[in-house]
This record gives sequence, structure tokens and C-alpha cells, in this order.
Amino acid sequence: MNYRHSYHAGNFADVLKHVLQCVALDYLQQKDKPFWLLDTHAGIGMYDLTGEQAQKTGEAVEGIGRLLNRSDLPESIQRYVNLVREVNDPNQPEQLRWYPGSPWFSAQHLREQDQLTLCEMHREDSGALSENVRKEFPAAKQIKVLEHTNGYGALKALLPPPQKRGMVLIDPPFEQRDEFEQVVKALQEGVKRWATGIYAVWYPIKDPLTVGDFHQKVKSIPGVEKLFAVDLLIRAATDSSKLNGCGMLFINPPFGLTQQINDIMDYLTPILAQDRGAEYQSLWL
Ligand code: SAM
Repeated sequence: MNYRHSYHAGNFADVLKHVLQCVALDYLQQKDKPFWLLDTHAGIGMYDLTGEQAQKTGEAVEGIGRLLNRSDLPESIQRYVNLVREVNDPNQPEQLRWYPGSPWFSAQHLREQDQLTLCEMHREDSGALSENVRKEFPAAKQIKVLEHTNGYGALKALLPPPQKRGMVLIDPPFEQRDEFEQVVKALQEGVKRWATGIYAVWYPIKDPLTVGDFHQKVKSIPGVEKLFAVDLLIRAATDSSKLNGCGMLFINPPFGLTQQINDIMDYLTPILAQDRGAEYQSLWL
């Protein structure tokens, strides 16, 4: 396991993922009934953008950095930026030291009745995650960290949740060649146990054909009926050795999210573009 998210925290991919995660969570909050969230690949929860690893790539500059000075943010994106600002020094609004991870965005949306389960496989990172949950997160009592735990295995073991409503976020590092296959298998297991849950999967786009193949495989999983995807290219995908973009796949997407998505993507795509050929597509599969 070589992947460390601290090299990439706050990059364009995190922006897309966390904006859509927050919008989905906003919709879950609209009903009083409790919800449960499972984050299968949680990372450490809080990233120091001044740390050696983040500084080495500087990726946050082309991600969250491009949103900080905007005065025309749509409301949903403004809410996400506000959450990022909350963990930073209010006296230095142009400079971010910290970038929160998916566990923190989830934690910020928990009400008293809701629960969050976080899995992280990497031994040291999962220790750091537990530490951050204790120190930094609101609602820490409602959060369970499963340290050194395989998120795919947890998904199989924990579904269906007693709450009956909620979302599973699957955000693997994609450092293994068969990661797309593993995700398809995990979704098969998940949907078999909990057909009504929301599943949100982040994936990289190097070669769009691989992504098309992945979409089709998920579509053919028995029990998957409502499947929605949004793909962002930050440049034309002519060189498949590069990370040319990323996407999010939703099974049972919250109703409002799909209606809002084009406004969000119309705004984000030109801002996150890194070269010619930047574009997005959102579609029901
Ligand atoms: N979701 C996080 C966020 O948005 O802040 C970032 C997660 S990062 C892309 C992927 C994480 O998954 C890494 O921290 C890695 O150590 C962890 N990981 C890799 N394989 C795993 C597995 N099978 N189960 C759980 N965690 C895993």
C-alpha cells in the first residue's frame, strides 16, 4: 500500500468528490429519520497542506485553491468552501493550512440521531484517523473508526444497517490493477444486502474506455436500477498514462442531486480545467 492521500488532498478530484458528497448529505438531512454513513476508504480525515507531502505536489493549488477567491460561487459549492474554511484560520482567508477529508465532511452533516462508520486499511493512517476523530471532529461519539480494516470486507459485514437509510462512500486509491473489478464486486455484495442504500463511488479517468466498461458492469449488477454518473475531464484524454479527470457514480442518487448536477458542473468544469478539452458529462445509465 503505497498510496498516501496527503500528496493529493484538496486537488481537483477532492473538490469534485467532496462537493458532491456534501450535496448528497444535504439531501439526506432533509428527513428527520436517522441515517447511517459508511466511508470504506476514509484516509486520515485532515490534511496539512503545508506538510512535506502536500507541498511536494502542490495539487491543492489547482483544486480548492481555485475556488477560494471566487465571489460567484453557487450556494452548494459555497457551503463546501465554508466547511473547508472552518478548519482554517479565519484571519487568513486566502491561505489554507488544513484540508479536511471525506470523514470530516460526513461528520459535519451528522445530527444527533445519525451514525458514521469509517474504515481505513493502512495501519499508520488508520491510527492518525482515530486520533483526528478524537481531536478534531464534531459529533465524535457518533463516529466509529474501524482501524486497519478492509473497507470492502466491512461493507459486506455491516450491510444492511439498522437505520435503513444512508450512504456508502467508496473512494479507493486505484493503485491496484483490478480496483475497478473490486469495486464492482463490492457493489454486488452491497446491493444484494441493501438495495435501497445510496452508493457513491469515486473513480479516476485516465482512459475513458475503462470508465465506460466500469459503468456497464455496474449497470448489469442485479438490483441496480437507478444509476447516475458524472465524469469530469480536466483535459482531453489523449494520454492515458495521465490522470485526465475523475468521476462519481451514484446508485440510488438523492433525487435533488441529479437535478442540481449540471449547474454545479457548468460552474466547476472551466475552473478546474488544466488544458484544452476540459468537459463534463452527466448521465443516467
Ligand atoms: N476518502 C478520503 C477523502 O476523501 O478524504 C480519501 C481516501 S484515499 C483516496 C484512499 C484511502 O484508502 C487511503 O488512505 C488508503 O490507505 C486506503 N485504503 C486502501 N485500500 C483500502 C482497503 N481495501 N480498505 C480500506 N482502506 C483502504
